[in-house]
Amino acid sequence: MKLFNLKLPEQQVSFQQAVKQGLGKNQGLFFPEQLKAFDDIDALLSQPLAVRSATILQRLIGDEIPAERLQKMVTRAFNFPAPLAEVKDSIHCLELFHGPTLAFKDFGARFMAQCLAEFAKDEPITILTATSGDTGAAVAHAFYGIDNINVVILYPKGKISSLQEKLFTTLGGNIHTVAVEGDFDQCQSLVKQSFDDDETREGVHLNSANSINISRLMAQVCYYFEAVAQLDKREDIVVSVPSGNFGNLTAGMIAKVLGLPIAHFIAATNVNDTVPRYLKTGDWAPNPTVATMSNAMDVSQPNNWPRVEALFEYGYLDKSILNSVAVDEQYTQLAMRELLSEGYVSEPHAAVAYKALKRQLEPGQQGIFLGTAHPAKFRDTVENVLGQPISLPQELAECAGKESLSESLAPDFAALKAHLFEVAKA
Ligand SMILES: *Cc1c(COP(=O)(O)O)cnc(C)c1O
Repeated sequence: MKLFNLKLPEQQVSFQQAVKQGLGKNQGLFFPEQLKAFDDIDALLSQPLAVRSATILQRLIGDEIPAERLQKMVTRAFNFPAPLAEVKDSIHCLELFHGPTLAFKDFGARFMAQCLAEFAKDEPITILTATSGDTGAAVAHAFYGIDNINVVILYPKGKISSLQEKLFTTLGGNIHTVAVEGDFDQCQSLVKQSFDDDETREGVHLNSANSINISRLMAQVCYYFEAVAQLDKREDIVVSVPSGNFGNLTAGMIAKVLGLPIAHFIAATNVNDTVPRYLKTGDWAPNPTVATMSNAMDVSQPNNWPRVEALFEYGYLDKSILNSVAVDEQYTQLAMRELLSEGYVSEPHAAVAYKALKRQLEPGQQGIFLGTAHPAKFRDTVENVLGQPISLPQELAECAGKESLSESLAPDFAALKAHLFEVAKA
């Protein structure tokens, strides 16, 4: 299957090229040339997660990766469950936080790692990425121990929680973590300088593994099928997605295009509400980003939005299947307490989606909201809001006791460049 650049449709690439390049020319996003629905959804839904997911990804990727190979990659990537938990009558949470770093980003990062491992067989790759928390952990764990791939992760020294830091700086091996003596913007700027420098980019075969990579999006399509597969009745389903960069929502909408019976989507945001305002007024008017409890959704210029628009523009979906709801901090807290009163402990991102769902769900409909992170990942906030202690799952408790292996570095490109070549040589 070919993919094309949404900004420059004449740029067409293979799946392998799209995964390796990340972004197309003029910063355009890649998008599949054609999306074709499955004929027999019930048969697909009756398969186990890994088998069904390989079928879905084969449909999205085409014959570039042989079926048997792809099945192996998917089995390795999706080695944890995505259970649908009943919260109350007609409302379920799809729990996407049972992977190694306890957030849904594990799905995308792990499948991307399998793809790059496949494509790196002939030529070693250096993954360079900057993180303010979650993405770094998902990327580090996904690529840990993969041959021919070195990972360098930059993060602002002293500016992320100690638990977050321990989750990705204690692995060692092919995972190299660098505490930059600066802020997150300086980390991002160092990454950008590295990609802009031909000698570095070509010398160490840089790849960014960032969230707009098409392989990550495709992987996320699979768990929407897993959600519906666990429902007894496959009608009148409304899915609420806690949204920041809108990759998760895009994946859900692609699942619908492939024939999954979801009637309606709600894009739930926090007060960073560029999209809900846009859908109401037709005006794209991002405000300065505001810090909230659901900090992975503190995005005012969502980078996957052009893909959502493409699904409408190319006639795959009607605009009426989507609406968007913003939930403020106060209602996020209320939602967390409301969920607790139902016996369900949740965290701010999922709570935003739950609240938006509650506002929109009509009698007779079945609601699903996505649980994008484990409550323990946002322990301080959750304990504050709920007024009760949260226990750490084993994965977090184990790495909290380990030593960080990070090196410190000045926010200086020459120093980073030297470090990258050193890592690539080893
Ligand atoms: C990344 C993230 C989101 C937002 O997902 P997008 O695909 O960027 O919309 C929501 N919740 C959590 C916990 C996240 O880490």
